[in-house]
Order: sequence, then structure tokens, then C-alpha cells
Amino acid sequence: MVLPVPNPTKSYWIEAAQSPLKDWRSTPELPNQTDIVIIGSGYTGATAAYWIHKHTAEHGTTPHMVMLEARDICGGATGRNGGQLRPHAYSRYLTWTTRFGKEGGLALIKHEMAHLDAFRDMLTAEGIADDVSFRLGETFDAAMTPAEWARLKSNYDAFVKDHGPEADVIRDCRIIEDPNEAEAFTQMKGCVGAVVHPSGQVWPYKFVHALLKIVAEKTGKLNVQAHTPALQVSERDAEGYITVTTPRGSVRAKAVIHSTNAWASHLLPEYKNIILPSLSTVAALKAPADLLKCTGAQQWGGEIWNYHLQIPPPYNAIIVGGAKCVITHYPRDWIKQGDDSKHLPGVADYMRTWGAAEVFEWPQDAGSELALPAQEGGSWTGLTSPTADAFPFVGAVPGREGHFIAAGFGGHGMPRILLSTAHLAPIVLAALGVQGVKKPAMLDKFPSMPQPFVPTAERVESLKDFDVQADIDADVKEHEAAAKLDIANGPRAVGWKTAA
Ligand SMILES: Cc1cc2nc3c(=O)[nH]c(=O)nc-3n(C[C@H](O)[C@H](O)[C@H](O)COP(=O)(O)OP(=O)(O)OC[C@H]3O[C@@H](n4cnc5c(N)ncnc54)[C@H](O)[C@@H]3O)c2cc1C
Repeated sequence: MVLPVPNPTKSYWIEAAQSPLKDWRSTPELPNQTDIVIIGSGYTGATAAYWIHKHTAEHGTTPHMVMLEARDICGGATGRNGGQLRPHAYSRYLTWTTRFGKEGGLALIKHEMAHLDAFRDMLTAEGIADDVSFRLGETFDAAMTPAEWARLKSNYDAFVKDHGPEADVIRDCRIIEDPNEAEAFTQMKGCVGAVVHPSGQVWPYKFVHALLKIVAEKTGKLNVQAHTPALQVSERDAEGYITVTTPRGSVRAKAVIHSTNAWASHLLPEYKNIILPSLSTVAALKAPADLLKCTGAQQWGGEIWNYHLQIPPPYNAIIVGGAKCVITHYPRDWIKQGDDSKHLPGVADYMRTWGAAEVFEWPQDAGSELALPAQEGGSWTGLTSPTADAFPFVGAVPGREGHFIAAGFGGHGMPRILLSTAHLAPIVLAALGVQGVKKPAMLDKFPSMPQPFVPTAERVESLKDFDVQADIDADVKEHEAAAKLDIANGPRAVGWKTAA
């Protein structure tokens, strides 16, 4: 994987936030030595810094940290995602239990669901919940076809059969089988059934900026450097230092945290076939306040879906991701592709009409407009980071002393990263021999990180020859089949072909 391209598409989250920390450099010169270099300033890098601070705050032993960011601060996936803090409450249950058994599947669900309380507790403790447009509420999977309804329900039913309807994580889930009720609740035209469960939403870019500011101000030990790509990392030398090379000079550090998401393999080539980039697309629509009751996803099956949320006032924009019925027509342009400077054909027009076409009783005067012009942040792309075994890598990098990784969260990092970096921070601190490390009380009630996230040498070794091309070909085939579905052949899905 190459370094992040310098000219990514503009996203609503970044443009509308107008953050003064966008090009943040704590000092004009790069420090030449520190304790920890954190590479990447997204959700992962920012929460890693936060938990390092929280684990050392009581004894004042926070190590010095330098954060290197190739782009502006939070210019990667976190600044361009869908904003959904939406755990897989039930929908992956059958897939996960097939691989990890009933208890393994349950552990993965518990970890994701715990992120709702973890976000609430942390944002409340820091007093930034409103600043980052945080909301807890319900979300739904709206089945748009009977086949998709059967698939969703089979996951829900399997969970209930194995763990009972009163199991903590499923207690607040419910199914709506009556299509009229489902349509009325989800507000999605043509919905045939829905599963509803607890969820959340946040402005991810503002969240990251707020957190970095807190760590920098509270500790005085975080030095942030925008527009400073790490070009190379060394092994640990005889004095115990790793050298990180950038175009602005080098930084020596005792530990390096690779929070580089889709770009991880640039510095850690052993992940070349394991953590991959893939291009996704999102848009922001103009809308009246509180038009949508909750966040949700429309599922047609065959890899065709959208997902959406509405940002609270005064912004009100509806964020819609997916547009899969459009992009399924040219899968080789985005599946496992790594250039988020390009827009995908047909998406902006499809998204523009999403409200009027998809939302039940969409008010006529709500119109069909992007919240910003398409090229100015109304519609954008970003890189997810799928992995060869569909799970992230969080822990010490095998065979590289002093290097740590937290990457490969796919298109689903929001309900996974916060408690993964909470797990990573004490590992890094222990490796540095930092004294006075204490787990913050707010973490006591949350489950530990699931085993499938641990980057053991065996796991990495078993995946290093993963056949990426075969994987792409299989995925392309599925999308070519999906392109034949009715939903992918209406004027909104294919109009761009004739216009082009
Ligand atoms: C379009 C899209 C929609 C998504 N929607 C959702 C959603 O609704 N819900 C959800 O849960 N998840 C979603 N995701 C996934 C989620 O955004 C990610 O899992 C999460 O943001 C990853 O955070 P991160 O910090 O690991 O990565 P990033 O935010 O990508 O941060 C990595 C940073 O590292 C920097 N970097 C890389 N290499 C170097 C280097 N060598 N030197 C210096 N800096 C470097 C990059 O510039 C980048 O800023 C979505 C992703 C995309 C792309």
C-alpha cells in the first residue's frame, strides 16, 4: 500500500466542522526524540493517546508522545465515514458462531455493544458529548426484500435460541414482522420487515479533534504534527530506540504505534496481503431538523445496501453511505482500491434523490439537495480497511520489538476501536516500563478485547500468502450478479451511464 494520497475528496464532516486544529503542528520543528510515536491521527491514534494518558494520569507518569499524520489531522477514514456507532448486535451471529462457537460469537457482540456505554461514559466524563453531536438511540436493519428478511431474522432467531431473549445484549432488540409497521417505524419505503436494536452516532472528526486537544492540554506531553508522513520505521537499535523517518527529519522513540488503518502495510510490509484498502462512498443531504427518527440501514441482499443517520441541530444534514446499487456496476474501480481522491460515477446524483425516493412521507419541501456541492464535501470517498480474516489486528507486532499495531477495522471501526485501544495502551506502557500505570475506573465494567483481534505470529503467518486477487475476483463476481437485480437497474442506479 502506498502512502495516503495528498488530495482526498472533501467530506462534509471535515468541511462543516471548520476545526482550527486541521493543520495542527504543536511545534514548528519535529521533535527528534520521544517515548512513543503514534503514526496516524484518526480514531485509533487519538484514542490510543487518550488511553495512554488515562492509564497514567493518576501518577503523572504519562510518557511523551509524538503523533505523525500524513494529511491534515483526522484526514483518513475517520474524517470521511458514516458516523454510525452501530454495533453488530445480532446480524453477524451465524457467521461468527460458525468460526468461534456460541461463546466466541457472544463475546464479539458484547465487545461491540459495550461501545455504546463506553462512548457515553467517556464523552460525559470529558464534557464533550454535545460538542461531538453524540446521540444514543435505536437503529434498524430494514429488509427490503423477503429473502433479506429471512437472512436477518435467521441471525436474530439463532441468537435467541442459543442465549435466550433476555441475554443482556439482545434484551433491547426487537423484530417488526408486519410490513406496514416496519415501513412506518423505519421510514423506509417498501421495507418488508425490520430488526431494531440500540445504537449511537457521533461526529467522528470532531470527536478526534476534541480528544487530541484534551490529551495535549491535560498532559502537555502530546506533540501533534500534521502533514508529516512516516516514510520508514527502523527496528529497535542497541540503545532501545526506533527511528521513524519523515520528510521533515527523523524522530527516535522507544515505541511506535501503527494506527495507519488501510495504509498499515506501507511501514509493515508483512501486512501487504492482510490489511487492504477498499474504497467506499458517503454523501450529506440537506434536510429539515429531526426528520429521521433513528439511524438505520436498508438491505436488499446481494451486497446492495445503504445506511444513514441525521446529525442533530443546528447541522441537520442526513449522512447516507453505500450507494451499492450504483457502484455494483463497476466493482473493479473500488473493491480493494486505495485512492480516495476520486469520486465514484453516479453516486452524487443517486444520493441527492435518496430522501425523496427512499424515505416514507419525505416532505416535498425537503427537496433533493446535497448539503454542500458534491466536490466541496457533499459527496466523498474514503478507505475502509478489510483484512484477510475479517478481524482487526490490535497488539504487539510479532517479531518487531517496540512496534504495536491497531489497524484493519474494515468499514466498521466505530463500535470496535475505543475498547481496543483501551486494551492496547497498558500493553505499550508495560513494554516501556512506565511506572504508576492504573486502569481507569471507567473501564472496569467493559469486556476485554476479543481474542480474534490479537495479532499472534501464527495468525499473521497463516495469512501472509492470502490470495488477494482471488478474493477480489470472487467479490467482483458477487457484485456482477448484484448488478442484475431490479434494484440496481432503476433510473437512479443507472442514469449516470446514459448521462456519461
Ligand atoms: C466511507 C467510509 C464509511 C464508514 N462508515 C463507518 C460507519 O458508519 N461506522 C463505522 O463503525 N465505521 C465506518 N467506517 C470505518 C471507520 O471509519 C474506520 O474503521 C475508522 O475510522 C478507522 O480509524 P483509524 O484511525 O484506524 O483510521 P483512519 O481514520 O484512516 O486514520 C489513519 C490515519 O493514518 C494516516 N496515515 C497513514 N499512513 C501514514 C503514514 N505512513 N504516516 C503518517 N500518517 C499516516 C492517514 O492519513 C489517516 O489519517 C467507514 C469507513 C469509510 C471509509
